[in-house]
Amino acid sequence: MDMRLPPLATGPGWPVLEPGWVWLCGAGPGDPGLLTLHALNALAQADVVIYDALVQEAILDWAPQADHIYAGKRGGKPSAKQRDISLRLVDLARAGKRVLRLKGGDPFVFGRGGEEAQTLIQHGVPVRIIPGISAGIGGLAYAGIPVTHRDVNQSVTFVTGHDQSGKAPQSLDWHAIAKGSQVIVIYMGMKHIAQISAALLDAGRAVDEPVAVVTTATTAEQQVLETTLGTVEADIATAGLEPPAIICVGRAVKMREVLDWQGQLAGAPPRNLDPLGRGRPAETA
Ligand code: SAH
Repeated sequence: MDMRLPPLATGPGWPVLEPGWVWLCGAGPGDPGLLTLHALNALAQADVVIYDALVQEAILDWAPQADHIYAGKRGGKPSAKQRDISLRLVDLARAGKRVLRLKGGDPFVFGRGGEEAQTLIQHGVPVRIIPGISAGIGGLAYAGIPVTHRDVNQSVTFVTGHDQSGKAPQSLDWHAIAKGSQVIVIYMGMKHIAQISAALLDAGRAVDEPVAVVTTATTAEQQVLETTLGTVEADIATAGLEPPAIICVGRAVKMREVLDWQGQLAGAPPRNLDPLGRGRPAETA
């Protein structure tokens, strides 16, 4: 993505990234504007930035003084590599570097940030954690889908579509999730969407239940597929969609008919001003 980024303001009053420290930081889902101010402050001070596949490389332009190390790993790979990354962070910190570990979204949401931070602390390396906007919330917002809505859900469940073995997670009780949560947000769900949708249907969710698939959310390449639980697998294949994608199951998806603000920016009028059929203005109780 060709982006020109404004100069970064940092300095007095902001935390200092001291030599020998690692800051474990979320980069948000893609759009550089979704970084936090702490993330910007970290980028300005780092000697080394170690970043993941899901981090937009344009963001690294805000750390021109730093070495940029790619530590890409995609789901399903053996965990040995995770250990290598963690130990590399330890080595860099011990060498007196100011280390910024930059991860897509939020480091503690399906990002193994907990494991990395634990390893660092076990090795006596001091850390600071900087949360980020997770794709399952911010990415959906860019598609015009609110993860909670008073008329739809009082809870939301975030699930991962595959476990450490790379298989559809056996440990998840899909029946309980289907019954307990009106809105289900699935990370890493593309590979096993057939099993996941079948499990939700088997648990009693409706074939015509709205589903959205949002790929490379918040970037210029963002694509949104609106489909249903019964047709999601076929429609993903037909559209040729590729990961990374967030899959949202539930009636919150309907709100996109009124809240597709990016479509509206591009000139498309709202499709339906009252997609949940409230029959009354949204602001009335
Ligand atoms: N820590 C990250 C999640 C890492 S797991 C976060 O908080 O967002 C990786 C998965 O996150 C991907 O397989 C995909 O399901 C989701 N994801 C991350 N960035 C995304 C993006 N820009 N668009 C769609 N999905 C994304």
